[in-house]
Order: sequence, then C-alpha cells, then structure tokens
Amino acid sequence: MTDATREIGFEQARALEQRYLMRTYKRAPVDFVRGEGALLWDAEGKRYLDFLTGISVCSVGHCHPDVVRAVHEQSRRLMHVSNLFYTEPMARLAERLSESSLGGRVFFSNSGTEANECAIKIARKHAHGRGVGAPEIVSFESDFHGRSYGALAATPGLAANEALGPMLPGFRSVPRNDAAALREAVGADTAAVLIESIQGEAGVFPISEEALLAARQACDEVGALLILDEIQTGVGRTGSLWAYEQTPVRPDMITSAKALGGGFPIGACITAPSAAEVLEPGDHGSTFAGGPVATAAAIAVLDLVEDPVLLRHVRELGAYLRQKLGELEGVEETRGRGLMVGVGLADGIDAAAIGADLLERGLVVNAPRPDTLRLLPPLVIDSDHVDHAVGLIGESLLGFSQR
Ligand code: PLP
Repeated sequence: MTDATREIGFEQARALEQRYLMRTYKRAPVDFVRGEGALLWDAEGKRYLDFLTGISVCSVGHCHPDVVRAVHEQSRRLMHVSNLFYTEPMARLAERLSESSLGGRVFFSNSGTEANECAIKIARKHAHGRGVGAPEIVSFESDFHGRSYGALAATPGLAANEALGPMLPGFRSVPRNDAAALREAVGADTAAVLIESIQGEAGVFPISEEALLAARQACDEVGALLILDEIQTGVGRTGSLWAYEQTPVRPDMITSAKALGGGFPIGACITAPSAAEVLEPGDHGSTFAGGPVATAAAIAVLDLVEDPVLLRHVRELGAYLRQKLGELEGVEETRGRGLMVGVGLADGIDAAAIGADLLERGLVVNAPRPDTLRLLPPLVIDSDHVDHAVGLIGESLLGFSQR
C-alpha cells in the first residue's frame, strides 16, 4: 500500500534532500510516512519494528493517542503567546517536573542542547556568586551534551574539531569512570560537573557508582553543582522516571528533552532548590520554549510514564531483552539499564553493516560506534516485540558470520 497523500516518491525526496539540505547527516535509505506504537511504515508500505524511537524520543510509541489528542486539542485553542504571559500547560508541567525530581525551578527549552545551555549558565553564575572569576565545567571524555557552543564545549569528542573553533573556554574532561581523575580535576574554580549517568551517544556506557559518588563528593567539597544530563536517560527510559533515582547520588540539576514531548520538541532544565534562584530576569530566555502545545504534549507523556507498573515493565523487559541478546552468537556483551541497551558485538563484526541489514529486514536500530548496536525501543513494547527483534538480530549476525 503506497501513501496516497504523498506528492513525490522516495527517489524525488532523496534528490531534493541531496540538493537542498545541509550535509550534516548520513541518512539511511528509507522514507518513513507513518508510525503507530512500536511500528513504522515507509513510503512503499513496508512495515518496520522501531527499536530506536527517533533516538529515544517516541518512548510512549509513535503517535500515542493521548499525546496526539493533547497536541490536537491545545493547537485548536492556542498555539503560542510567548513567555511574556502565563499559560496553564507550562505552569502545570513545571510543577510536575519539579515535584517528580529535584523540587526546585524549571526553565523550558526547545531541545536538549538548549536545556544544557541553561544548566551551564546557571552553573557559571552560581560560581560567580562564590567569587569564582573563571568558572570551569568538568565532564567525561566521551560525554555527549549537544551541539550549541556551550554544550559542544562539554562534548570533548566533538569539541576537538578545530574547524569549528575557537571553543568556549572553561571546560575540561577526564576519562570516563576515572573517579580519581575527576576528584583531581574538581577544584576551587569548578562551577559544575556535567555528566551523563549512562553515556548514550558514546555507545551506552553506564557511569560507575564510584565515579558518580566521587563527582557528588568533589562538588560538595568546593560548592560546585552536579548536573546530570538526563536527555537520553530520562522520562522512564531506564525503568525509573529519572535515571539518577537508580544511582546513589542526587544531582543539583538535571536536563531533559527527547522523550519529554513524545515526539514534540521540548526540553527542560530542572534545578534543586539550591540552584533555583540563580537566574533572574534578563539572564536567559527563549521565544518558543514552554509553549502551550509542547507543554500539553509533555503532560500527556508524563501521565503515561509516571506509572509504577509501566516503569517496572521497563526494568523487567529490559532484563529479558538483555538476557535474550546475551544468548546470541556474535554478541560479546550488553550494557545499559532498562530499555536503554548497548549491544557490544564480537571482534570483526561491523555494527553499521548489521544496522543496515536489520533495516532491510524491518528492524530499526542504530550503531553509535563500530562495534555497538544501540536499542532504544518504545517503553510500551511487550515480550513478543523483544522476541521478534532479537530473532532478526540473531539472523543478521548469522548472515554476517557466513559471509
Ligand atoms: N544530551 C544527551 C545525553 C543527548 O543524548 C543529546 C542528543 O542526542 C543531547 C544532549 C542533545 O539533545 P538535542 O539533540 O535535543 O539538542
């Protein structure tokens, strides 16, 4: 079944993309036209099981009826008035986010990188308040925090691209999980430690409890803030609403985006009371952020995800997924928590080739590094979806070994 609403076919879309879009992405050769729950359909009517969800965005499944209803109803009433006025969904969402996490204040943004910009600004201003003249932010070497210049400076792998320089000063990094190096790097000038508790873009690498505790303790010793980037891990992905809940530390700030809007763009920087009063009028802003449609979508998402039954399901199904994956020939290890899973492949198996082969077989995943597949399925899948996905991965790995 092809889509009758389309004006152009896949080849034409690809030609337009190649002529008119900036060359920032290598796209897979598929043109998706519809999504429902854990499924996607391309322009030719082929069906796919989505174990990537637009990189952990459509966590409640594609086009969840509650999210669609919230967007539809809100967009019929009021789409935008700016942050110069009050709107109910924004106020209600701020309460939900604060009360479900750190209890301070919320700044809304339109993306993850902007949520981190806000956190960086708060950290620097907070440090100036302690008399620090040149505040520093410390991260782990393979962290990913986004692509605007502040977030980029805290993303050492990408900040090394000199063609984009000069980078923002005041950022340093230490090897992942090196608690001693982290302690060493945090000093009187440190404004914050900004880290992911599970590094997603790097290939799903959890940060050890020891390193998280070292970060917390080092921040406390100098009066710096601990910021956990929950942009990929948050909103139920790991089997708790926020990933930090399953760690021994409580941060001073978290940042959220991706799954928060269920497919609608929204981000948030959420503080504990200790960092809540740092920003004042004039310090920060955004025209679109916290708009009524995005915040209404996010409330619908939280209504679905803030559910202990669903969160337990995520933990249990994640364990089942990892157990089944671990039985496959060619799988060296699995990493992650809940339904955020990295699949480390045996030596010589090219994860990108497996990812491309899986797409042809009708399973959407991605390969964040040459030896790793990343699985970020909708939280609402069941064990049949897992069996089907693992079956396809097993067939693909077998095909690879027989080449
Ligand atoms: N932080 C983390 C942990 C992410 O995974 C991402 C995106 O992949 C970002 C920040 C940036 O978010 P966005 O692409 O919405 O700007």
